Amino acid sequence: MNDTRRRIPSVESLLQTDAFARLLDERPRSLVVSALRRVLDGLRSELADGEAKVAPEATELAERTRQALDAMDEPSLRRVINATGIPLHTNLGRAPLPGAVREALNDVSVGYTNLEYDLERGRRGSRYDHCADLLMELTGAGGALIVNNNAAAVVLAVDELASGREVIVSRGELVEIGGSFRVPDIVAKSGARIIEVGTTNRTHARDYEGAMGPDTGALLKVHRSNFRQSGFVAEVDIAELAEIAHRHDRPLIYDLGSGLLPEAESLGLPWEPSVRGSLKAGADIVTFSGDKLLGGPQAGVIVGRAELIERLRKNPLLRALRVGKLTIAALEATLRLWRAEGLARSEVTGMAMIVADTQLLRERAERVADALRDRSPGAEIEVRQDVTEIGGGSYPGVELETWVIRIKVPGRSEREIESACRGGDPPVIGRVRGDALLLDPRTVLSGEEEVLIERVAEVLSGDAERR
Ligand SMILES: *Cc1c(COP(=O)(O)O)cnc(C)c1O
Repeated sequence: MNDTRRRIPSVESLLQTDAFARLLDERPRSLVVSALRRVLDGLRSELADGEAKVAPEATELAERTRQALDAMDEPSLRRVINATGIPLHTNLGRAPLPGAVREALNDVSVGYTNLEYDLERGRRGSRYDHCADLLMELTGAGGALIVNNNAAAVVLAVDELASGREVIVSRGELVEIGGSFRVPDIVAKSGARIIEVGTTNRTHARDYEGAMGPDTGALLKVHRSNFRQSGFVAEVDIAELAEIAHRHDRPLIYDLGSGLLPEAESLGLPWEPSVRGSLKAGADIVTFSGDKLLGGPQAGVIVGRAELIERLRKNPLLRALRVGKLTIAALEATLRLWRAEGLARSEVTGMAMIVADTQLLRERAERVADALRDRSPGAEIEVRQDVTEIGGGSYPGVELETWVIRIKVPGRSEREIESACRGGDPPVIGRVRGDALLLDPRTVLSGEEEVLIERVAEVLSGDAERR
C-alpha cells in the first residue's frame, strides 16, 4: 500500500517539469501549489481506495491541476435548479426570494443607502426602523425588530427577559430544529436556567403554575415546527399560558419558527399558528424565521409588546446579531407583498410553490416530459402523480399532491443519472426513488424550465459524460 503511495511524485519535482512550467507562467505559484496539493490529496485517496493503481504522468497531473485552478475561479455559492419539489429545501437555501427582491437589491446593493441615516432630520437613524412599521402593520404588534435568524431572535429575547433567571419550558417542547438549534442549549447560552415542566407527551397548566417562583424570568413556548405528536398528548395553548404568565407578571415568549403571517385557512393550508393570532392570544414576544413560510431572506423577526421590543433594542447582544442592508432590503420587499394576500400567493415565490395548483403542475410536468422524450428517445419518461413535502422544518407530515417526471435509462443506473444532472451547469437537483430519477416542476421557476430541459436532455443522451 505504502509503496504505491510513495510513487506519487513530490510537489517540488512536479513544479520543475515542463507541464507545470506553463501553469506557473499563467498563475501565481502559491495558487498552483495549493491546487496541486489538492490534486495529490485526491490521488492519494484514489490509490488507497484502489480506484487508481498507479500515479499518472506529470502532464496528466498538470491537466488535473489546471482543472482544479479553474474550479477555484468559480464562485462557491452557485445557482441550482431545484427539481426536488420541496419548496423550502433547507440544503438549497430554504425560500427562493420573490422577484420583487431582485429589484430592491439592485437598488441598494451597489450604492449608498440610508441604512442608519434619518433623511428627514439629516442625522443618525437606526437600521431597525426600516421594517418595523410594516411588521407592526402585518402582525398587529406594538413593536418589531429583526436579527440574523430565528435562533438569534430566541437568544436575544431570552437573554433580555430572563438572563440569570429561570425560563419555564414544557418537556414536550425541548426540540431540536435542523442545523443544531436545540432549545436547552439556546436557553443556556442566553444565560438563563431552564426549568422543564410536564412530560414528553403531556404538559398541563398546573405544571407551569407549580414552577412559577420569584426566580422565574419568562415562560417560553416553542412551536413543534418539524414534528407532530399524536395519541395521549396535551399541551397548554398560548391563551392559557399567557393568562398564567400575566397573572404572575411575567412575559410569555413564543418561538413560532415558521412565521405564517395570515391565517393558514385563508391560504388554503392546514392549520398552523399565525403570528397575528399568537400575539392576539396573548404572547408578549413572538419570534420566527424570515425564510420559512414568510418566503423571504434568512432573518429572525421579533414582534411583540412595544416596551419589551424597546428593551431588546437596547440589549448589547443585538450588535452581534444585527442584519445587513441586503437582508433588510430583501425582507422589506417580501413584507410589502404580504400586505395583499392575493399578491403574496402569487408573488412570494416560496408560498406560490406551496399553494401551486395541482392541475397546472401536471400540465407543466407533461410539457417537460414531452420535450425530454423528443430529445432523448432512448430514455423511459413518464409523468406520475406523487406527493412532496413543504420542507424547511415546516408543516411536518403534510403531504402536497404533486406531479413528477419519472426518468429511467436502460443500461444506466439512476444514481449515475442523478449525479450527472447534479454535476452540470447549472446543477439540476432531483430525487432518486427506486430505480428512477424524479423531477418535480413545482420548485422549478418558470424561467428555468428551458434550461432544465436542455441540461437533462444532455445527460440522458450521454453527452454530458463525454465532455
Ligand atoms: C426554524 C426554527 C428555528 C430556527 O430558526 P432559524 O431561522 O433557522 O435560526 C427555531 N425555532 C423553531 C420553532 C423553528 O421552527
